[in-house]
Amino acid sequence: MASPPVPGSCFCGAVTFQIELPTLFCGHCHCSMCRRPHGASFVTWTAVPIERFSITSGKQYIKHFKSSSKGTRSFCRICGSQMFCQTEPDVMDVALAALHGKIDRDPEAHYFFDSRADWTVVKDDLPKYGGESGTDPL
Ligand SMILES: [Zn+2]
Ligand SMILES: [Zn+2]
Repeated sequence: MASPPVPGSCFCGAVTFQIELPTLFCGHCHCSMCRRPHGASFVTWTAVPIERFSITSGKQYIKHFKSSSKGTRSFCRICGSQMFCQTEPDVMDVALAALHGKIDRDPEAHYFFDSRADWTVVKDDLPKYGGESGTDPL
């Protein structure tokens, strides 16, 4: 039995989208390329195969920014909400905070944990990864 799609939007509501479960992962990313554009200590991401992701309105308000050789980030050009990051052609990373409903899993790990902001205090038992890839054991 397929669960209903999970809707999401930017802050102003001009851009709406949805994902279909199941997701591929969920985790907290502490890298500076996530922290700065989101204005946050870390960003909690999930991801779905591209065919389970769709923009439902406001496609014309989405602005893309190539943030590295591998990644393109997308945000609302009206309100500035960061919503998506694509590093592989067939997968879409979605900021969990942009979703309006629950997904099929809780955050599973911290990535780029050794790059975290020095004010970030984490007291959970989730695995902490880092190094060059952000996913190496620390
Ligand atoms: Zn917006
Ligand atoms: Zn990151």
